[in-house]
Amino acid sequence: MTTTDTPVHAPLAADFYGFQEALTPVEHDASARLRDFMEREVRPIALDYWDRAEFPHQIVPGLAECGMFGAMWPETARFENSAVWRGWAALELGRVDPSTATFVGVQSGLTMSSIALGGSSEQRAQWLPPMGRGELLGAFGLTEPLSGSDASKGLRTTAERRGDTWVLNGAKRWIGNATFADVVVIWARDTADGQVKGFLVRRGTPGFTTSKIERKQALRIVQNADITLDGVVVDEADRLPHIHSFRDVAVVLRLTRAEVAWQAVGVAVGAFEATVAYVGQREQFGRPLASFQLVQDRLAQCLGNITASIALCLQASRMQDADRLGDEHAALAKGFATSRMRETVAWCRELLGGNGIQLDHGVAKFFADAEAVYSFEGTRDMNNLIVGRAITGVSAFV
Ligand SMILES: Cc1cc2nc3c(=O)[nH]c(=O)nc-3n(C[C@H](O)[C@H](O)[C@H](O)COP(=O)(O)OP(=O)(O)OC[C@H]3O[C@@H](n4cnc5c(N)ncnc54)[C@H](O)[C@@H]3O)c2cc1C
Repeated sequence: MTTTDTPVHAPLAADFYGFQEALTPVEHDASARLRDFMEREVRPIALDYWDRAEFPHQIVPGLAECGMFGAMWPETARFENSAVWRGWAALELGRVDPSTATFVGVQSGLTMSSIALGGSSEQRAQWLPPMGRGELLGAFGLTEPLSGSDASKGLRTTAERRGDTWVLNGAKRWIGNATFADVVVIWARDTADGQVKGFLVRRGTPGFTTSKIERKQALRIVQNADITLDGVVVDEADRLPHIHSFRDVAVVLRLTRAEVAWQAVGVAVGAFEATVAYVGQREQFGRPLASFQLVQDRLAQCLGNITASIALCLQASRMQDADRLGDEHAALAKGFATSRMRETVAWCRELLGGNGIQLDHGVAKFFADAEAVYSFEGTRDMNNLIVGRAITGVSAFV
């Protein structure tokens, strides 16, 4: 079995069925470059930054070089790639550091996809290329203090049209990257027609303030913020013209949910690799933990979770490539993969005994980070309700 010093071009031992063969040669090389970057530049510093709850800005250019920002869009893709590769990349990121994977998900998946899908050609041309190079950073402001799971109906932030401008008032919560983002996509309800619309709010706009959420116990590298919007004036030219209602926001979430499912597999793989290395070395009763039947049983269950999740994610990505991915497919992938991840990291933590809750032994960070990945971009409940609606034809959200 692999350890955390896996050679960068070797297949992952946790990829037990060889799913990586689904990548094209170009995508395979890109994955090797990404793994190399994550091992060299991110793994050595991740624990300390996590412990200090700080973001390592120095990794942004390297992530851009690896093609992590906007791989889906013609303006920013560095080579021809598929949803399968983008998913695999999320696995590679999550396997080393779930916070880095989340940072990329916010910049590339949530923010750039909102601009690409909802923006005019001028907005795409203005924002996507510098964001693709990592020169400008973005955030996605949907969740509010009083509206999380019910964002489709419960958004209270308002947008009021005044001539060629809009005035935004309200508050946002949990917004990743917001403390340093150059642009934040703010989702607000139009006071005239009651529909959700998207606005590009630039850092420094009067009335727009952020404050970092402190004492967070998962994904501590990600800088999540509370945002206050107090009479923020935004030009009509900075409204996303192709967003007409929450249905259009859901299209962005469908794409990102499938990638969060892959990220969750990466989190499970990272914890599993650290655990396999640990049980091979730690001795009790005069023998390595790895030699005990109950330990091997747990490892087999972890590998089963990982393998089933990759299979599910792979097919979801293939459906995305074929333009057949529905909300319910993305929701099943996210709900299933994050549940199996949560179970896997808990078993891994258990297999390290007390060291499972101590950062230096390589599993505690995955264990903690998994909780956030489990809850964001739709909790397990919300995703299963989307699937349940598809199964039964009955919406059971309220
Ligand atoms: C680390 C982190 C990063 C995040 N980044 C961002 C970001 O960048 N941008 C952004 O907009 N948001 C972000 N979020 C917010 C995230 O999407 C929300 O936390 C998530 O949608 C859940 O909302 P909530 O926390 O308000 O929980 P709530 O909606 O209050 O839910 C609490 C519990 O009630 C359950 N529940 C709610 N309604 C129902 C129902 N009808 N039936 C059954 N159970 C129900 C939920 O499943 C959950 O278990 C982030 C969150 C975290 C933790």
